[in-house]
Amino acid sequence: MAARKICSYCGKKLEGKREYLSEQVKEAEAYCSAECREKHKEALQKVRKNMKWFAAGIVCSVLLVLGSAFMEASESSMGHYMTGTGMFLLGLTLILFPYCTPETYAMFGYVKTNRIGRALGILTALFSLWIFCKS
Ligand SMILES: [Zn+2]
Repeated sequence: MAARKICSYCGKKLEGKREYLSEQVKEAEAYCSAECREKHKEALQKVRKNMKWFAAGIVCSVLLVLGSAFMEASESSMGHYMTGTGMFLLGLTLILFPYCTPETYAMFGYVKTNRIGRALGILTALFSLWIFCKS
C-alpha cells in the first residue's frame, strides 16, 4: 500500500508534480501546494487540541453500549435507551471529530477522510434514532 502518492491534505495525486514536503522530516507528508501544507498544519494542531474530547466521547459511548448489554441481560427496559444514547454519542463524536486511522489519511488525504468520518457519524446517529424508535 501507499505506492500512490497523494497530497496529505486535499488528496490530489502528486505524480510528476512538485511536492511540498512537510517541515518535520520524520513525517512522510507531501502536499500539492504550500497552501495545503499550511492548512494541514493548522488542522493537525486542532486535532491535537480536540483529541481529549474525541477520546472522552468514544470512551463514554463504549461504556454506555457495554453497560446497556448488562442491563439487557438483567431484562431492564432501560437497556434500549442506553444503547441508543451510546450510539448517538458515538455518532456525534464522529461528526464533530471525524478522526480516522493514519492508513485512511494516507489513502484519501485529510479532507476526504474527514468527510468519510462525518458520513459514518451521521449513519451512526441515524442508527441510534432507529434504536430509540424501536423501543
Ligand atoms: Zn493539496
